[in-house]
Amino acid sequence: MASTETDRQGASVLSACADRRDLAVLARALSPHLGADDQLVSPTQGGREAAMDRMASIDPVAYARTRNHLDGAVTLLGPYIRHGVVALPDVRDTALATVGHPTDAEKLVQQLAWRDYWRRLYGDYGMRIWDDLEDYKTGFGPEDYADTLPDDIKAGATGVAAIDAFVEELVTTGCLHNHARLYLAAYVCHFRRVKWQAGARFFLRHLLDGDPASNNLSWQWVASTFSNKPYYFNLENLQRFADGVVDTRYEHNVVLAGSYEDLHLRLFPNLDPPEPRKPARPRRGSRR
Ligand SMILES: Cc1cc2nc3c(=O)[nH]c(=O)nc-3n(C[C@H](O)[C@H](O)[C@H](O)COP(=O)(O)OP(=O)(O)OC[C@H]3O[C@@H](n4cnc5c(N)ncnc54)[C@H](O)[C@@H]3O)c2cc1C
Repeated sequence: MASTETDRQGASVLSACADRRDLAVLARALSPHLGADDQLVSPTQGGREAAMDRMASIDPVAYARTRNHLDGAVTLLGPYIRHGVVALPDVRDTALATVGHPTDAEKLVQQLAWRDYWRRLYGDYGMRIWDDLEDYKTGFGPEDYADTLPDDIKAGATGVAAIDAFVEELVTTGCLHNHARLYLAAYVCHFRRVKWQAGARFFLRHLLDGDPASNNLSWQWVASTFSNKPYYFNLENLQRFADGVVDTRYEHNVVLAGSYEDLHLRLFPNLDPPEPRKPARPRRGSRR
């Protein structure tokens, strides 16, 4: 069907619905198989108007300072970019137009560039992005990792409070902060030793901005099949970036507690012990 015809039909379906609730009912009726085990509708509003509202509130300076904190000034533009409602150059130009000097928008523009980079790699790799692009650097081989995501993770019932909160947010809203994605991916791959592909499939099922390029290659970066070393974190790091957003108390997140050296020995017992890390500086810092 020509895309203009599809667009016309889509527009008439939308205008036949009085509100979002009507639209959700219609969407479920049109795709009954999709709603079989998931009746949730994200609070995120679609459309150009909502995207433009988000664009108007971009603050690149605050973004650079706070983006790694779960309550930081991120743009929440992911779903609109993913579905082509706004284009990366438009976001870049809007960011540059709001700052006094281009370097003030550097961090945000860099992040937009990551998306572009992953898309280009996807163009080269195609479906191979579902394969391990390199060996794991964890001291384990693929055979040591579970093939499927355990039910307690899918249900957000691991007993690790922060992890359960991230799963709940992902499943109910379709959105998740970048740092929470990193924490959840590291938990799946390294604390539970599950294949990154199982986690990636779970993310793609729920994320409103789900995109095989950014998603799979980020999972591979965490897993170490597309990076020099595994990404992992400890409770101290979680408390630094997630305090006040999710429950980061020790007694509710015991498995995450320990120094990086301790965790390295626990999670990667076949590797040589790591160099001691310098203590974290008490500032609002940066991570990819
Ligand atoms: C395990 C994992 C899975 C991910 N899966 C996806 C995915 O399916 N789709 C997706 O678009 N992004 C994915 N990301 C990247 C990133 O988490 C999201 O793009 C970002 O959190 C979206 O929220 P935002 O719009 O508020 O981002 P902001 O931080 O406000 O950034 C603005 C835009 O820049 C781009 N961007 C920012 N950070 C990254 C990044 N690290 N990699 C690629 N693009 C970035 C996105 O288009 C984002 O919308 C994933 C990251 C990880 C660690």
